Amino acid sequence: MTSLTFYGGVNEIGGNKILLEDKDTKVFLDFGKSFSRRARFFEEFINPRTANGIVDFLTMGLVPDIQGIYRDDLMKMAGRKIQKPEIDAVLLSHAHSDHADYISFLHEDIPVYMGKACHLILRALEQRASRTIEREILNYKPRPYNIKDEPIERKIETFTTGDKFKIGSLEVEPIHVDHSVPGAYGFIIYTSEGPIAYTGDIRLHGTKSQMTRDFIEKAKEVKPIALITEGTRIAEEAREESEELVYKESAKVASETDNLIFADFNFKDVDRLGTFFTIAKENDRKFVVKINDAYFLKYLSQDKHLDVPNIDDENIIIYLPKRGSGAYQDSDYKGNDKEFLDLHNTWTAEQIAARPDKVLCAIGFYSFTALIDMKPKSGALYIHSASEPYNEEQELSQDRIDAWLDHFSMNKFQSHCSGHARGKDLLEAVSKIGGKMLFPVHTEHPKAYEAITQKITLIEEGVKYHL
Ligand SMILES: [Zn+2]
Ligand SMILES: [Zn+2]
Repeated sequence: MTSLTFYGGVNEIGGNKILLEDKDTKVFLDFGKSFSRRARFFEEFINPRTANGIVDFLTMGLVPDIQGIYRDDLMKMAGRKIQKPEIDAVLLSHAHSDHADYISFLHEDIPVYMGKACHLILRALEQRASRTIEREILNYKPRPYNIKDEPIERKIETFTTGDKFKIGSLEVEPIHVDHSVPGAYGFIIYTSEGPIAYTGDIRLHGTKSQMTRDFIEKAKEVKPIALITEGTRIAEEAREESEELVYKESAKVASETDNLIFADFNFKDVDRLGTFFTIAKENDRKFVVKINDAYFLKYLSQDKHLDVPNIDDENIIIYLPKRGSGAYQDSDYKGNDKEFLDLHNTWTAEQIAARPDKVLCAIGFYSFTALIDMKPKSGALYIHSASEPYNEEQELSQDRIDAWLDHFSMNKFQSHCSGHARGKDLLEAVSKIGGKMLFPVHTEHPKAYEAITQKITLIEEGVKYHL
C-alpha cells in the first residue's frame, strides 16, 4: 500500500526524484536535474533541443518516462496523450538545481511545497537569468515558445520548520536542516504504514548544525519505517573543515594585502556570503557584488533570519559590467538590470580598480573578463572558496582559472567547507535515527552504509520498493 520508487539520485550525486505512493496519494520528493546523466550525452556545444520540447530529455533518460506528470504543452509537442496529472504534490527539500530544476517539466496543477527561504532563492534565480526550458520552476511559458505569452504560474505552497500539512493520506512535517543554501529541509512523512524520513542534503559541521540535529532528533523520535538518506561524502576521508576555519584563513590573507581581493564562492551559500561580507567590513573594504548576485541580496534580505544585507547597504557596491556599446551608456542596460543602474553605489571596473585596498570583490572565474578592465596590479589576491575540482570538466576550468591568475600575476588561496556531511557524521546520524529500512540516495557509494546497518536497500532505478 505504501511504496518508494527512485527515478533519480540512484548511484549518482543529485538528480533526486523519489516517488512516494500511499493508498491513492502520490508525491515526489524533489524533482531535480542530474548533472552526471546530462553530461553523459551533452556538453558545451551539444544540448537537448528546446525546439523539441521534452522529447530529447525523455529519449535520453534525463527525465523519467512516466504518464500523468508532465505539462500539457510538452506532451502535445511529443505527440503524447494529454491527461490530468496523477501526482498530488512535489515536496522540494531545497533550491539546488539537482533537487529543483526539473520541476520545470511538471504539470502546473501539481502543487510544489517548499520552505519560505527556498522560495525567495528561486525568485532571485528567476530574475537573474533568462528563461530556459530547464529552469522554469515557479512558472513557465508554453512551448512552442511565443515571447508574447504570459507565463503560467505553478501552485507554490511555502512552509517553515514544524509546519505540518496534509496531502491526501499523508501528513508531512518539514524540519529545517543545515546545508550550503538557506531554506533547506528534511521531511518526516506520516504514511498509512508508519512514518518515513528523508534527509534532503545535510551537513553537521556548518554554522547552523543544530538545525540538522533537530531533524535527527525528530526522525529518531518517530521511529521511521524507512529512512532515505543522502550519502554524498560517505566514502570520503575526513578532514578538518568549518565555516569558522574558512573565515579565519581567508581573513588572515585578506588582512595581509593592500591589493585587490577577489573571492570566488557560491552566492546562494549565505554562510559563505556572510563570511566574506564580514571580512570586507573588518578590513575597511566595500563588498563588491555582480548585478546577477545583487538579486540574491534583494530577495534574501527580506528574510530577517538570514541576516543578508540589501543592495542599498552602505557596505555594498554593485559592479556594473560593460554591455552593448561598452561605454556604460544607460541604453546598454535592459530589463530587470535597469533598476541597479541609478543606485548611488554602482561602480564600473575602472572605479573599483582605482581603490584596490578599499574593495573586496565577490567576483569569480565566470566574470574574469572584468580583470581586463580592472588591470589588477601584480600580487592581487584570488580566494577560491568552492570545492576543488572533482571531474575532468572542472579540472579544465581549474586550468583556465590558473591561466588567468598567471596572466595577471595574481596569488591564489584555497579555503572551503562543504555543504555535505562528512562520512563519519552521516554514519553517526543514520545510526542514531535507526529505522526499519535504509535507502541511501544522492551517493556513488551506497554500500558504505553497510558499515553500520544490515537493513540497507541498494536501490535500483524505477523499481518499486514496498514498505
Ligand atoms: Zn543535492
Ligand atoms: Zn544541495
